[in-house]
Amino acid sequence: MVEAAEIKSFTLRAPDHFDPHAETMPRHEIEALQTRRLEELLPRVYAHSALIRRVWDAAGVSPEDINSLADFKARVPFIDKDAIRAHRDRFGDPYGGIRIVDDSAVETVGFTSGTTGDPTPVPNGITNAVEVSHLRELWHSGGRPGDYIVHMMFTFRGGQSRNNFYNAAGLTPIMIPHNPTELPFLIQALKTYRPSVLYMLSTPLLIALEQYFEKTGDDPREIFNSVKGASFGGEPLSPRFAALVKDWGLELFEHSSLGDVSGMTECSAHDGMHGWEDLALVECLDDAGHEVSDGELGELTVTSLADPVAPLIRYRTEDLVRVNRAPCVCGRTHVRIWPVGRKGDRTTVQGKPVLPRDIQKLVERHRETRASLFQIVRPKPEMEVLHVRAGYDPEATADASELAARLTAELGTAFEVSVRVELVSNAELLKLGPPQKIPRVTKQ
Ligand SMILES: [Zn+2]
Repeated sequence: MVEAAEIKSFTLRAPDHFDPHAETMPRHEIEALQTRRLEELLPRVYAHSALIRRVWDAAGVSPEDINSLADFKARVPFIDKDAIRAHRDRFGDPYGGIRIVDDSAVETVGFTSGTTGDPTPVPNGITNAVEVSHLRELWHSGGRPGDYIVHMMFTFRGGQSRNNFYNAAGLTPIMIPHNPTELPFLIQALKTYRPSVLYMLSTPLLIALEQYFEKTGDDPREIFNSVKGASFGGEPLSPRFAALVKDWGLELFEHSSLGDVSGMTECSAHDGMHGWEDLALVECLDDAGHEVSDGELGELTVTSLADPVAPLIRYRTEDLVRVNRAPCVCGRTHVRIWPVGRKGDRTTVQGKPVLPRDIQKLVERHRETRASLFQIVRPKPEMEVLHVRAGYDPEATADASELAARLTAELGTAFEVSVRVELVSNAELLKLGPPQKIPRVTKQ
């Protein structure tokens, strides 16, 4: 069993590393630790996780077959979100057959964000890999004992729903709901408590902050001047927002989910997000399930190594990523990951690949469409015409048909394909959900 003490035993802190031993261990040590944790974990998961036992039995695999990382990668069958939901619906188990302890060991219950379907409840125990990774990331972005930090978090697999873990780093969190309507409290907290870290910003909050500064004339540099680091998540940071936030004097660290197992966040090198390999086994796989080389596009596949309650084993995340396992200039030795998009978002138009983030760069440049709300409309992954449904601000638009023509021409030039732009008001698109949850790709 991975003991709380093992996960939370921090060694002497270096200036940039909360847990220098864990964050900078050589690769052979990372792999030895992973092997040890898998050896301990797999028999327990097989014995207690109804989903894993069913999937492994169907594949003819048992824990005795797995004696090395190579065995694991060659033999262990995959699971995904659909498998968890199907198990949940078939057996009436809210946790989808992944929980391996009884109710008494469940400390909190959270929910997945439901980006690609209905949210799934996630049980958490006394130790939580999300929180361990979070402390390392907060420290690296400037949080130090005695500091206040702002905690504005949206749903994230139930992690960080508790605040006492911040005590391990001597930080005092100011808890504010993650909602643009709470902006007055954020501004007040920034002015009153002078927090060193702002966790976390998202597109809706950046839009609200931009409007706030335009309306009030407050100086963002003054408001944010105590903040050493701010994280950003929910979707990729667009070039326009990156420039805007830089202008406010904020150093932004992009953050994402490491396949629901923990978080992953950029370091000060801003060259990929660090996934913690003592907390998760990270694989980058082609469609056939073979590991791709560093730098090549693959599907992020993760295994929990430090979740004593509901570990995911070879969980295919549907996130397309590139990875690099070379040590980083920040001194950390753990894998760096560059998210590229969702597997289901892959679209080709006239044989050319089109990703939502490439459209975003063009759409957000225009004042009328700067909120960057849009969808690729495609009944099937291969299309002859790129159909973009773009949200616009009617108040900022003099002539909608001129705007549509301008966007059509620009997208056509950028992708060298036929384009159809359909304009709808931002308000209409926001009926589908908050900006970061509007599906970037839709069938109709
Ligand atoms: Zn780094």
